[in-house]
Amino acid sequence: MRSFTTLDLQYAHRFYGFKGEAQYLHGHTGILTLEVEDTINAGVNMVFPCNEVKNIAWDVLRNFDHALILREDDPLLPAILGVYEKQGIKNGTPQNKMKGPAFQTELATAYPESRLVVTKETMTVEGMIKIVYDLLKDKLNIAKITFTSGVNGATQEYCTEQQQEKDRCPLCGILLNENGVCPKCGYRK
Ligand SMILES: [Zn+2]
Ligand SMILES: [Zn+2]
Repeated sequence: MRSFTTLDLQYAHRFYGFKGEAQYLHGHTGILTLEVEDTINAGVNMVFPCNEVKNIAWDVLRNFDHALILREDDPLLPAILGVYEKQGIKNGTPQNKMKGPAFQTELATAYPESRLVVTKETMTVEGMIKIVYDLLKDKLNIAKITFTSGVNGATQEYCTEQQQEKDRCPLCGILLNENGVCPKCGYRK
C-alpha cells in the first residue's frame, strides 16, 4: 500500500539564461507530494505514520525552505555571497535555525548556513523532482514524487520492486536505526 505526505517549500530562484520573465529573481511556494510504497506494518496497521515520512523528508528538504536556489554558473551566486559576507550573515546567524544537515549530491549542494542551494541544472519543477529523489531514495521506498510551483507541475513514478524493505518499529511504526533499535520508544528487533 502507499502512504503519502505533502510538504510546503518557499523558495526564491530564477532561470538563468532563460528568455522569459523567469530569468528574473522571484519566489514561489512549492508543494511537494511524496508517495511511499511499503507493506503495512502489522503492529501499527500503517505503512508509515504519515508524520514519519514527513519528518524523514523534512530533515533534508528544509534546506530548500526560505532558501535561495541558484544554478552553479549563475553570476548572481558570487554577487549574493559577497553581500552576505559583507553583512556578516554568510556563515549563519543565531536566528538561522531552520537548517538541515548540509548535503552534496551530483545535482545539488546545500549551504544551510547561508540558506542557499546550488544546483547543477536549472531548478524547474522537473529539476526539483530529480533532486528530491536523489536525496531520499535510500531513506524511503519512493513510488511517486509530484511537485507544483505556481502554475507549473510535474510528476514522476518510480519502480519500488527492487527497493529493499526497511524495518519499522511495531509499536510506533517509525524506521529502526542501523542497530535495529527504535529511536523513539527503544524497541529492539
Ligand atoms: Zn519560478
Ligand atoms: Zn518504537
